Amino acid sequence: MSGFESIIDQKRPLQLLTTLLKKGTIPHALLFTGIDGAGKHNAAIAFAMACNCLGKGSASKEQYAGNAGNYPEGPSVSEPCCICRSCRKILSHNHPDILHIEPTGAIIKIAQIRSLCHTLTMKPFEARLRVVVISRAQAMNPEAANALLKVLEEPPASTMLILTAEQTSDLLPTIVSRCQQIRFNPISRKSIALYLTSDQKIPPDQAAIIAGMARGSLSRARSMSKTGWIDHRNRLLSTSGLDNPGTLPAKPINVLLAFAENLSKQKDTLPDALEIIKSWLRDIVVCQYNTKKVINADMTATLKKISEKISPELLLQKIMAIQRTQRNIESNANPRLSLELLMLQLAEKY
Ligand SMILES: [Zn+2]
Repeated sequence: MSGFESIIDQKRPLQLLTTLLKKGTIPHALLFTGIDGAGKHNAAIAFAMACNCLGKGSASKEQYAGNAGNYPEGPSVSEPCCICRSCRKILSHNHPDILHIEPTGAIIKIAQIRSLCHTLTMKPFEARLRVVVISRAQAMNPEAANALLKVLEEPPASTMLILTAEQTSDLLPTIVSRCQQIRFNPISRKSIALYLTSDQKIPPDQAAIIAGMARGSLSRARSMSKTGWIDHRNRLLSTSGLDNPGTLPAKPINVLLAFAENLSKQKDTLPDALEIIKSWLRDIVVCQYNTKKVINADMTATLKKISEKISPELLLQKIMAIQRTQRNIESNANPRLSLELLMLQLAEKY
């Protein structure tokens, strides 16, 4: 199952895509926006499959009549069959005409776009419609973005581009204006929890906690469910003393600073660790009003006990301190210094 049906909670974007396929009005460039893990990449691959599917249900040749005349005539389907030769090649990343560009390191370099331009001067090998997927297009450096703009201004025959990005403001306006934009919303907590219990066989109580933490991202939920996230959270809370009111101020400052240093070294898990701490503090506020909305539902009793000892104002200050730290780290501030400052702010009067 890797066609459109594998993408959950994105009714509107999928409707727009299947309408384009049904009408045969496939634009030269699409831009999928939304957070990582909302299904943009899978939708791009499923769209490429549908454009080139050889399976049953192919639409008539006339259905391509509405396009700019840039695409060769041929059958198209609104849903890929996932089993024909073309679909299988695309699914296994072995199709010579489905090209994928993503950042190498932190950026998409000019050399990658130049190499793409060279490929696009040649005819597709076998595809009805060659599809270029550029993931995290916001990572293009200015030279790469300008080179891509030239491709968008003079689109090669039998080729379409699909760019993915978190938001349009991350891209050059001249690039955005040449793409048809399709927005992917974050996936609902309910849908993520359902996916985790039915597809990943995660127990419902854990699935609900992970879904609350995943912030609308299915890929984040999946990786959390695989990495023993509940244990990770428990370790994080007990090491920081956040699960036991009164202990944190008593912790010697060198323990707090060592904890901050340790966290700063775990670059891959740091964003999740900060989210875990934030969700915990948020839950201390929320549990006073509505326990059903608590994310860390397995620890509601502890949360309630803590909430009796701390004012909502103080908690909000701490949540804002975490948000500030998240922003600073995202804008390349020194993680260790930012986390040291955060730990001191969290320890204060807790
Ligand atoms: Zn197919």
